[in-house]
Amino acid sequence: MTKANDAITAVQKAIHNKDPYQTEFLQAVDEFLSTVEPFLDKHPSYEADQLLAMLTEPERILQFRVPWQDDEGNWRVNRGYRIQFNSALGPYKGGLRFHPSVNLSILKFLAFEQIFKNSLTGLPIGGGKGGSDFDPKGKSNAEIMRFCQSFMTELAKYIGPNTDIPAGDIGVGPREIGYLYGMYKRIKQYDAGVLTGKPLDFWGSKGRTEATGYGTVYFVKHLLADRNENLKGKTAAVSGSGNVAIYAIEKIQELGGKPVTCSDSNGYIYDEEGIDLALLKQVKEVDRDRLTAYAQKRPQAQYHKDENVWDLKANYDLAFPCATQNEIDETQAQTMVSNGVRVVAEGANMPCSIEAAEYFMAQNVVYCPGKAANAGGVAVSALEMSQNAQRLQWEKEDVDKQLNTIMKNIYESTRDAAKEYGSEKNFMLGANIAGFSRVAKAMTEQGLV
Ligand code: GLU
Repeated sequence: MTKANDAITAVQKAIHNKDPYQTEFLQAVDEFLSTVEPFLDKHPSYEADQLLAMLTEPERILQFRVPWQDDEGNWRVNRGYRIQFNSALGPYKGGLRFHPSVNLSILKFLAFEQIFKNSLTGLPIGGGKGGSDFDPKGKSNAEIMRFCQSFMTELAKYIGPNTDIPAGDIGVGPREIGYLYGMYKRIKQYDAGVLTGKPLDFWGSKGRTEATGYGTVYFVKHLLADRNENLKGKTAAVSGSGNVAIYAIEKIQELGGKPVTCSDSNGYIYDEEGIDLALLKQVKEVDRDRLTAYAQKRPQAQYHKDENVWDLKANYDLAFPCATQNEIDETQAQTMVSNGVRVVAEGANMPCSIEAAEYFMAQNVVYCPGKAANAGGVAVSALEMSQNAQRLQWEKEDVDKQLNTIMKNIYESTRDAAKEYGSEKNFMLGANIAGFSRVAKAMTEQGLV
């Protein structure tokens, strides 16, 4: 056994012993550790055991009570968190998720992934994540506002434009960022650089809302171009109906592909003629409604209540899971391969289980891990930070051009690391090693702190 292998086994064992019930976090760490041995073998100057032990322990975890009053005047209590996982490359950067499933395990997995995702962008940002088990579904606008204000009353103590810069994630969009920012401003004075994903009128970046979805499709565009192909005429299955899914659908259509599905937690749409994007935007962005409303207005679309889109049996070339973690298990991966899928690009964070991802790779399906494929969102967040520091707002075309270039670089560094350290098919390994190499170097140069 090599030294790196020993170190990996020891760290893995220690992490499992320390946090045996944090299943999502352990899944993300196991996946990462299963890929880094060839890199550590090739760089024996790194103290693998110490580096990995340091890397898998968050620098800081903040947990706080969020009391808020509902419209009936009752006081309610939720839990708020911020994980400041790793600052080797820059200030902590990562979204806030408001969803009833949120717990320490989920946020630790997201923050851990964010370290390598942010590194892949090539920009100076460290990894963090936060959120709450608050459920925004069915809440009034006033309740959302009071919750955001209370959440920020506590969070403001721990963040700042040069230390920790949150953004949105599931359940947190420009409306919530607006309320959070309004409260931060009252507590700490005006500094727009403290949050990204802001509305355009107060220092948001043009193109930020679209960035994650567009970026995921750009990643696939560059992958296909490498094989002398493009998206024209290709059919795509997409899950989710939040901003990642909506703007992935928009970009797929713009590049000549045909997205045929989208989903929410109650079911999915299969629209064989292609998703009606204008209708989808009306339902989700304007009416803030469920996909049943899409189905009612578009009789030719099939609505599958209480079913998972990845159980659909129909032909498609590309899959864009853009909903949430672990939405695709191995059985669903088998169904997708029988459907003819050739590329799976993760718009969400960790939507494929490890078994599903490994099955895709074994079947010669190109598996594009989220930390590479969905890095466009955080990349444009970093561009928003630059614009805020400059007190400027760039044109949408400029932002989009930079996003496209960043996604091309991420694709190439993932591809090249895969080839150098494993096999050219293994983008899971490629993305992990390409992301890890910058972080390992920075941590070591900073004295492993
Ligand atoms: N929540 C997004 C992600 O998973 C974006 C984070 C950000 O913009 O800071 O990468």
